[in-house]
Amino acid sequence: IFIGMIAGIIIGALLQALFDDNGDFRFTVLGFELSTYGILVEGIFSTVGQIFIASLKMLVVPLVFVSLICGTSSLTDPGKLGRLGAKSVGLYILTTAIAVTLAISMGLLVSPGEGLNMTSSETFEATQAPSLSQVIVDMFPSNPINSMAQGNMLQIIVFAVLFGVAMAMTGETGKRLGAFFEDINTVILRLVTIIMNLAPYGVFVLMAKLFATIGLETIGGLAKYFFLVLAVLAVHGFVTYSVLLKLMTGLNPIFLMKKMRDTALFAFTTSSSSATLPVTMETARNKLGVGNSVSSFTLPLGATINMDGTAIMQGVATVFIAQVYAVDLTLGDYVMVVLTATLASVGTAGVPGVGLIMLAMVLQQVNLPVEGIALIIGVDRLLDMTRTAINVTGDCTVACIVAKSEGELDEVAFNDPAAGLSKE
Ligand code: ASP
Repeated sequence: IFIGMIAGIIIGALLQALFDDNGDFRFTVLGFELSTYGILVEGIFSTVGQIFIASLKMLVVPLVFVSLICGTSSLTDPGKLGRLGAKSVGLYILTTAIAVTLAISMGLLVSPGEGLNMTSSETFEATQAPSLSQVIVDMFPSNPINSMAQGNMLQIIVFAVLFGVAMAMTGETGKRLGAFFEDINTVILRLVTIIMNLAPYGVFVLMAKLFATIGLETIGGLAKYFFLVLAVLAVHGFVTYSVLLKLMTGLNPIFLMKKMRDTALFAFTTSSSSATLPVTMETARNKLGVGNSVSSFTLPLGATINMDGTAIMQGVATVFIAQVYAVDLTLGDYVMVVLTATLASVGTAGVPGVGLIMLAMVLQQVNLPVEGIALIIGVDRLLDMTRTAINVTGDCTVACIVAKSEGELDEVAFNDPAAGLSKE
C-alpha cells in the first residue's frame, strides 16, 4: 500500500509537470481529438479510483449491521452494552476535547494568522450547529431501511443493537438466527479481505489522480497555518494516543502505531473515515486483537462521532481566522470553540471535506466571519487527508482501551507483529 501511494504521487506529479497545457500529447482517432493526460488522469485513474472507493463504501452498511448484530446477540452480560457505550463515548469526547485544546494552545503560541492581510470575496453559508437533544433524537430511526439506504451510521447502530439484544432474549430462535448472521459476517469479512488485496492499486490510482490535478502553489501564504495543523496532528497522533494507551492499559503504543500504518494510509488516500471503516474494523479485530463485541460497536460509532484530526483543524483555523480578521477572542469564546467543535463532530459522518462544514458552525458560534473559510479552502485537501488518518487512529486507540478494560483484548495478538498478516 505504501509503495502504491509513493508510486501514485510520483506518477501524478510527473504527469502534472509534463502535461501542462502546452506539453500534452494530443492525437486524433476516428475524428475524436484525444489527449494523453485526459485519457490517463480523467479516464483511467479517475474511473478506477471511483470504483475502488465505491467498493469500500459498498461494504460499510452490511458490515456494520451484521457484525454489530453478531456482537450484541452473543452478549451474556446485560450491563455490558451500557458500559461499552459509556466508555466509548466518554473516551471519544475526552480525546476530541484534548485535540481541540491542543490545537488552540499551539495556535495562540505560533500565531499563524498574525500580520497576514488577506481578504476573501466569496461567501460561505453556515448551517446551524444541531442541539444536543436534536442529535440524540436523530439517532433513533423511524425507518431502518431508510437509515441503511442513506448510510446513517448512528441510526444503523441503534437498530442493530436493539435487534441483537432482542435476539439474545429470544432463546433458541435467537441462537438460530445468530448462526445465520455469523455466516453472513464471515462472507462479508472475506469480501473485505478481497478488496483489501486490491488496495495497493486503488491507492495508486487515487494518489496519481490527486497529484496530477492538485495545485500546491496555494500553500504559499498559508504555509504557517498548513504546517501548524500538520504539526498538531502529528503531536496528537503520536504523543496523545501513546500516552493515553500506556496510562490506561499499560500496552506498548509502538505496536499500535505500527499496526495502524496501512489503515492510516487508507484513510489518507480516501479522505473518509466512513469509507475506511471496513479496513479499520479488520485491523482492530485481526491485528490488534480487539474482540468483535467491542470492535463492531466502538469503531462504527467512532467513524461518526470521533474526529480528533478534524477538531484540530478547526481549533487552528479558528485562531488563524480570528488573527487574520484581527478579532480578539476571549477565554469564554475559546471554551465555546472546544464545546462546539466537539459537539459538531457528533452526528456528522466522516466523509471528505465535512470538516469545513463543521468549521462554519464553530466560526458562527463565536461570531467570526464564516467567509474566512474561503481563505483556507485551497490547502484543505491535503489537510483533510492527513486529519482523516488521525481520526481513524483515534478510533482504534479508543477501541483498544475499551477492549482491554472489558477483558476483550487478545494481548497475544496485539503484541504479535505478524498478527493478521496472513490473508486467510
Ligand atoms: N474527512 C474527514 C473524515 O472522514 C472529515 C473531515 O475532517 O473533513 O474523517
